[in-house]
Amino acid sequence: MDIDREVLEVDVLVVGAGPAGLSFGYHLANLIGKSEGRVAKPEVIIAEKGSYPGAHSLSGAVLNPKSLAEMMPDFLEKGFPLEKKVKDDSLLFLTRNSKFKFPFLPESMKNDGNYIISLNKFTSWLAEQVEAKEISIFPETSVRELLIENGRVIGVQTIDLGLDKEGKPKSNFEPGSIIKAKVIVLAEGVHGSLTKQAYSKLDIGYAKLPQAYLTGVKEVWEIPENRLRDGEVIHTFGWPLPSEDYGGGFIYDMGNKMAAIGFAVGLNSPNPTNDPHYYLQLFKTHPEIKKIFEGGKMLHYGAKTIPEGGFFSMPKLYHDGLLIIGDSAGFLNSQKLKGIHLAIKSGMMAAEAVFDALEKNDFSAASLKGFETRFESSWAREELYAVRNFHAGFDDGLLMGLVHSGLQMVTRGGGLFNRRETLPDHKHMMFLEEFTARKGQEAVTKNLKYDNLYTFDKLTDVFRSGTKHEEDQPPHLVISDYDICNNKCAEEYGNPCTHFCPAQVYEMIDDESRPGRKKMKLTPSNCVHCKTCDIADPYQIITWVTPEGGGGPNYTNL
Ligand SMILES: Cc1cc2nc3c(=O)[nH]c(=O)nc-3n(C[C@H](O)[C@H](O)[C@H](O)COP(=O)(O)OP(=O)(O)OC[C@H]3O[C@@H](n4cnc5c(N)ncnc54)[C@H](O)[C@@H]3O)c2cc1C
Repeated sequence: MDIDREVLEVDVLVVGAGPAGLSFGYHLANLIGKSEGRVAKPEVIIAEKGSYPGAHSLSGAVLNPKSLAEMMPDFLEKGFPLEKKVKDDSLLFLTRNSKFKFPFLPESMKNDGNYIISLNKFTSWLAEQVEAKEISIFPETSVRELLIENGRVIGVQTIDLGLDKEGKPKSNFEPGSIIKAKVIVLAEGVHGSLTKQAYSKLDIGYAKLPQAYLTGVKEVWEIPENRLRDGEVIHTFGWPLPSEDYGGGFIYDMGNKMAAIGFAVGLNSPNPTNDPHYYLQLFKTHPEIKKIFEGGKMLHYGAKTIPEGGFFSMPKLYHDGLLIIGDSAGFLNSQKLKGIHLAIKSGMMAAEAVFDALEKNDFSAASLKGFETRFESSWAREELYAVRNFHAGFDDGLLMGLVHSGLQMVTRGGGLFNRRETLPDHKHMMFLEEFTARKGQEAVTKNLKYDNLYTFDKLTDVFRSGTKHEEDQPPHLVISDYDICNNKCAEEYGNPCTHFCPAQVYEMIDDESRPGRKKMKLTPSNCVHCKTCDIADPYQIITWVTPEGGGGPNYTNL
């Protein structure tokens, strides 16, 4: 249908009010302020799909405050929401019933001087600092499409509101707007949907490695007194993951008898029943972990993917009219599983490049390349380059991964190989029959029965994420071929989406028209926007698109 759309024109549009997008706004406002009128104040807006900045923000989170201190030296005086300073840091290797504590931590793994935060609270606080600089943030604004003209990014289109399930306008229909800008900054976080469009339509992929991902699943608990030491941070590897899978657990003291527990699992698993939510529930049953959480109360839940590929998986960071920052561009230290400080730093470097572009009134790729030039000579590049081969080192399983990472530590990141070829995550998945023939039936058997007091089924967990969506809208998880789900995928992989989705969006239910057979049932309203399905689906027939703004999780304390 032909739709008359409102067209807005601004100087700079940022998509995503996470640490990267907000830091971009804050730093740009500072630079403009310091220029004392040399560069006219631009109109900058930040669009965020969550119901408020922070509603979709989920992280561990242990923050390295380096970039925050560079950007805002008085952040502590400004009321930075600190839960705890890290005071106690350990790394455990778990077997089913015991633990081995590493007697010391390598320098690169230590958390001295870092802060335990809730990303969700941090993001809300940072948004207040940005608004105080007179930069507008528009929550509940889902940006749907990147607009490209003659190879140049010219703007975006926001989502049409008030469409029913079939895509027909309801009485409250409101067409999405076109927002034109001299430069669009993509700060959508991991596996951004506009970033995906930029990958497919623009030449920004370079000939590097595909991005690699983990799915992180997290709960926040109120626990009995004295179960954790003050400012304690625990990281684990080993059980319950099989040795060919990549990932591990984390537990952080948040003070006031609150604790975060999470588990992150690689999406390059050969196992078609790989289930990050199940691993978190199993992890909690380990005797060492139970000692901490038993008798407590689970309050909040969430899940999100993490871009783990590292330096060689980063795209080209700029194009005519476009910059990509934060997780969207893979600014994440894969060894430490930390991206917040790099998201902030990337926002700052992009702001400096945009400041120069505003001064020259030149938003071409040649001008915006200043972002990459700054990155190349920054500590962020040094940090990412030092761990460039970390994730790939685990392609041969846990044991070889430890050997590779030991070698990388003494060779400053080189080890036995550099830029090792790898396939996209979904191509590592094996057919169910082939996998069970190799690993045995027990590798795909899920014995744990959830009691919904200590271990939780997916629906109970999703309830604690505060997730809500308008039910009568087109599904934002677009399956291009249901026939593949109901037949080919059922036979070959056993419908892995029903396992890897941490929010029970996908279910196979009885198909009345085919006795004895099942069909796909989709419940998009459960979706916590983690993007696992878009990444891990072996046929790549699931596309995650933005739903109506304000829909999705309403995280608190995560
Ligand atoms: C389980 C887990 C544990 C982690 N632990 C740590 C840790 O301990 N320390 C650490 O430093 N890092 C950690 N990270 C990584 C860290 O959270 C990220 O690196 C960081 O949040 C990236 O910031 P960002 O601004 O790039 O993206 P995000 O924080 O993801 O923000 C992106 C924002 O963009 C919005 N958005 C996306 N698409 C659109 C759209 N189309 N329209 C409008 N808005 C949109 C989203 O709603 C979101 O608010 C962890 C991540 C996970 C998942």
